[in-house]
Amino acid sequence: MSTENMYYAYSAIDDIKQKGEYGGVVTTIMKYLLENNIVDGVVAVEEGVDIYDAVPCLITKSEDVIKTAGSIHCGTLNLAKFVYKYLDGCRDMKIAVTCKPCDAMTMRELMKKGKIIEDNVIMIGVNCGGTMPPVPTMKMIKDVYELNPKDVIKEEIAKGKLIMETADGEVAFGIEDLEEEGMGRRENCQRCSLKIPSNTDIALGNWGVIGPLAGKATFVETFSDKGAKILQEVIDAGLIAVEEPIEKGVEIREKINNVMLKNSAKKKEEDFAGTTGDIIDVFYKYDEEFSSCMKCYGCREACPLCFCEDCCLEAEGPEWVPGGYTPAAPFFHLTRMVHMVDACTNCGQCSEVCPCEIPVAKVWNTVNNKVKEIYGYQSGFDVDQRIPFTDHISHAKKL
Ligand code: FAD
Ligand code: SF4
Repeated sequence: MSTENMYYAYSAIDDIKQKGEYGGVVTTIMKYLLENNIVDGVVAVEEGVDIYDAVPCLITKSEDVIKTAGSIHCGTLNLAKFVYKYLDGCRDMKIAVTCKPCDAMTMRELMKKGKIIEDNVIMIGVNCGGTMPPVPTMKMIKDVYELNPKDVIKEEIAKGKLIMETADGEVAFGIEDLEEEGMGRRENCQRCSLKIPSNTDIALGNWGVIGPLAGKATFVETFSDKGAKILQEVIDAGLIAVEEPIEKGVEIREKINNVMLKNSAKKKEEDFAGTTGDIIDVFYKYDEEFSSCMKCYGCREACPLCFCEDCCLEAEGPEWVPGGYTPAAPFFHLTRMVHMVDACTNCGQCSEVCPCEIPVAKVWNTVNNKVKEIYGYQSGFDVDQRIPFTDHISHAKKL
């Protein structure tokens, strides 16, 4: 395997190196981009009241970037919606954004739809083994780990264990056992089939960093000319130190990634069991679950891809869904299914908010997987077939 575009790296800026998760390279790159006016803002995540509170933010002053250093594993957010909804899809500003694989896939889908302008965005990817829902995680830490959630400094998945670290040491339980009992990572993360975000400009993670730099540096791989150019500039500016990765480390990274993907495939097999028919059959398999829908439309509001003012609203009209009746007539969920069939990135936002606990993300991921199987079309990748932004607007107006 060529390692030409791979490095071990850490920040040359002391306070960022300390606060960063594995050497602070992401934060240093963001700082460089802002200081040199290459971007107008940085979209990342900062800690709110504690490590269970992941807050998306826009930073415009380079001295503030350090606030965003570190990884928050109990964040269930998706940054693509933040970029589209609050930054107008970057039509008038240039940004760099930290992207977990599902953030990146959703960004790519919105770029294809012309809702985010690709040329104005630098995607800084972070590998992701999964995120955990904050409130159930605090409960698990209390009940299973017998720790005070406030004492946990760091959580990590390593060698099949979910490790909680406090000032007094580590407590670990097998991740598979926890997940069988409905704890651990979010369900969609257990299914997720992209762990190293190769659809970004540059991706960083701790997997594969071995030897003296283990735990102190991050593994960097560039995936586009844009990413390679930026990394070279930051190296040339003396802001990060880089070393060639240890060959064995490169192999370990690939091996861990493959194990994670194998586990995701197993989870998918379980989740998709009994859905061998066509796409409509999948919908009817979940008929009973959908019949508990209370018409709050939270799934549509939370979805980073289908919160379309333009389309789903029509499914709320009295001719489709008469007022005063629950559940929603099938048209609402059927309309969403049509929108999700090629687009769903399994980000899990819909299931997260559903008060009736309908496994919406699982249903859309199942149909999306069928499209992938039949047409070889992979959502979250390939920006060649994008619709120009203006065409999208005029199309929406006609509706
Ligand atoms: P830093 O300089 O500390 O920057 C980290 C960046 O990530 C910041 O911009 C921060 O705002 C952003 N961020 C923090 N939390 C989130 C979030 N929830 N969503 C989006 N962005 C966020 N690497 C692996 O090799 N294997 C893994 O299994 C793995 N799992 C991860 C899970 C999560 C949820 C996250 C956020 C990261 C994960 N990483 C994983 C990547 C790793 O933790 C480091 O982010 C990476 O090595 C870069 O280190 P750094 O010191 O350069 O980052
Ligand atoms: Fe990470 Fe994938 Fe879960 Fe997104 S869906 S948080 S990328 S594991």
